[in-house]
Amino acid sequence: MRLILLGPPGAGKGTQAKILIEAFGIPQLSTGDILRSAIAAKTPMGLAAKEVMDRGDLVSDAIVNGIVSERLDAEDCKPGFILDGFPRTIAQAEALDMMLIDKGVKLDAVIEIKADADELVRRVNQRAKESGTARPDDNEEVLRKRLNVYKEQTAPLVAYYAEEGLLRTVDGMEPVEQVTAAIKAAIAH
Ligand code: AMP
Repeated sequence: MRLILLGPPGAGKGTQAKILIEAFGIPQLSTGDILRSAIAAKTPMGLAAKEVMDRGDLVSDAIVNGIVSERLDAEDCKPGFILDGFPRTIAQAEALDMMLIDKGVKLDAVIEIKADADELVRRVNQRAKESGTARPDDNEEVLRKRLNVYKEQTAPLVAYYAEEGLLRTVDGMEPVEQVTAAIKAAIAH
């Protein structure tokens, strides 16, 4: 099973990915998590990405494409993977298409998790309050920036994957279990 979870920050991509890795026995590949690990480890890539991430902008396509290409070659991705937070631009989607052609594999579905902007602000504020180690990009000002970046650079992927016949849309405003059920139904469809 090869899936992409697409949706604005706070829509529940990470939460759903964690449930789906259990259900399908395949790894989650989160470019955001990999970048945050690189920042924590103070690698050159992490140092270069930190400032961009803290202000809510996108890290360069070259950096994230490199991360994904390397990660997809790992043994645990052979049976499948769940991409969470990648691709985020049309150029990344095109690069991914090339990587998958190279590896001789195909995506099964792209799940768009739809969510309302005001609810997203509420959720991310809550995530910031609840987590002891708040993410520097989980504050309202940066979130609004990230929502704008999503609208401008990532939302065009909805049409891109609809065109490829891969898009399935679920309502991310439902409770977590219902969203999971909707994703499973959409995949089986
Ligand atoms: P996330 O954890 O997916 O919300 O990502 C957090 C931040 O990491 C984003 O706001 C971007 O700065 C950066 N990032 C993660 N994935 C990507 C990507 N595919 N392209 C560019 N930047 C990314």
